[in-house]
Order: sequence, then C-alpha cells, then structure tokens
Amino acid sequence: MFYTLDTLDRADHIRKDEDALEILRQRSDARIVPVWNNLSLVTKVDSKHPPQALYLDSDYSVPNGQHVFLGLDGDIPFFAVDVSVLNDEESATLSSVGKDRSGTARSGEFADLRQVGPALPGQDGSVLAYARGLIFWNSNTGFCTRCGYSKVSSNGGHARKCTNTECNYLAFPRTDPAVIMLVTYSPPDGGEQLCLLGRSPAWPEGVFSTLAGFVESGENLEAAVQREVLEEVSVHTKDVRYVASQPWPFPRSIMLGFEAIATTTDIRCDPDEIADAQWFTREQLKGFGNWGDDSEGNKLPRPDSIARFLIDRWMVGAA
Ligand SMILES: [Zn+2]
Repeated sequence: MFYTLDTLDRADHIRKDEDALEILRQRSDARIVPVWNNLSLVTKVDSKHPPQALYLDSDYSVPNGQHVFLGLDGDIPFFAVDVSVLNDEESATLSSVGKDRSGTARSGEFADLRQVGPALPGQDGSVLAYARGLIFWNSNTGFCTRCGYSKVSSNGGHARKCTNTECNYLAFPRTDPAVIMLVTYSPPDGGEQLCLLGRSPAWPEGVFSTLAGFVESGENLEAAVQREVLEEVSVHTKDVRYVASQPWPFPRSIMLGFEAIATTTDIRCDPDEIADAQWFTREQLKGFGNWGDDSEGNKLPRPDSIARFLIDRWMVGAA
C-alpha cells in the first residue's frame, strides 16, 4: 500500500530530548526534507526517468524555518523543514542543491506530491507524505484553541505548546478518519457480481472510484460506511468488513478501507457529492483506462490510492 512503506524509526523517545535532537540536527549525514508551500522536492519529472525524493544537507538552514524530527533510517536522522518563507527565485535556487537517497547531487523542482506521488519509489513517497503532513499541521496551528495565545513547537515538531503560562495547552497533530468502501452486489439469480463506483464532480473526466466520506462525531466506522453509501447514492448495505488503511496526509486524513454488500441496487445520486455512479462488472473494469492517462472513456482511480487497492483486489477475486 502506497504511503505506508516508510521504514523510518519514528524514535519518539528522542522527541522530548532537546539536546539529543540538536546533536542529531548537526550530524553531517542528517537529511533534511524541505517543504515549500506544501510542495515537495523531487528530481525533475520527465517521461524517461521516474522522480525521486531529494534531500538537503544538514547544514542547510532557513530563517524561522519550522524543523520537525521525522525519525531515523538506521542511524541516519531525518528532519523536515518548512521553507515556505523563500520566494520563487530562492526556492528555485534551493531546488538545484538537493541530493538523492544515495547522496548524489541532482537537479530538482518543487512538485505537488498528489501529482508525482504515484511515480515515486514507495519509501520516498512515504517520507515526503509524512513530512508534508507534519509541516502542514505546524504551519496551521499557530494559535491556542483554548485561549488564543500563540503556540510554539515542542516535542521535535510533534506537538505545539501554548505560550500563555496560565494555559500551557499542548496540542498534538490530528488525523481525520475517513471511510472508503467497495460495495458489491451478487444477483440472486447467480448472475455476475457487480461493484459500485461513483465519480465526484471535481474529478478528471471519466474517473470512477469507490465511495468515501468522513467519519462523524459519535459514529463507529461501520455506521459511517453505511451512512455515506446511503447519503451519496441511496443504496442500502450490510456485512461491512474492514480491509486495510492508508495515511492520506493531504492534508491530514487516514483512509480506512472497507468492503460492504449491497442489499438494494437502485442508485439515486446526491448531486452535491456524486456526478454519476454505476454498477460495473469485472469485465467492464478491465476496459477502463488509468487515472492521468489521456485516453477517452472511463478510468480507474490513481494507482497510489487505497481506492485502487480495493478495486484491484476485487478484480482478482480476493474481495
Ligand atoms: Zn492557551
């Protein structure tokens, strides 16, 4: 599963030890993952060479840059740093001094991980997603939600503490749970099994995917699956079963993947959320194009997504 191939030891016992963090920060072999306005540094993308993540040397520093300790790869410390203070020209200069995982200097560019992620090596994609999510949270958690005072980084960037000494509220990164589900239907006459896919009005033309939605307060995951399917396409379901999960820090979700059995088949789409939804056979899905290609007709979702994982699983009969 993409974005779960992170081999970093998150080493949370080091996060509260400022002296140990400073020693790691100054290590000559430390690797810095820069994040510029939510974009990640990768080798220049072209059709012949898939992108790779690029890292900065440990002596790189940026004024007021938020540092986050990501963890250790073996003995090598990894940090993320927010370089959004740089202007376009400065960020272009920075993108020319990165090194790949082997330490080779490579020319790069800042790119949206949601665009280049599927082509990255799995470990690179996981580290960049982790860095992006934590930098996003730090840069969007400037003030205390209890008293309104400013907050400062704590625990190596994994917490933010209120500066009001009468408050001292410590906030931790939040992850929003979302359910995503492959709904199937087996006709009672023994006909071919079908799966239910829909498309959001905001998606590229022709892309169909599994339905999904956020878990609401006071709701368990199974109820969220049934509610979302009913709300979005008016289909009733049963036998909700957990399959797998995937971090999706764009900006801060985790996708919890399920399968469910439909007990009704009539589709009525909620036009605010679903432009179209249909039942498909496996044979029909085999004729679909891929997300991002320039083919006409229907397409499967992006290859780095749990939606695609659930669909591919069903295609080979595992679901
Ligand atoms: Zn406070």
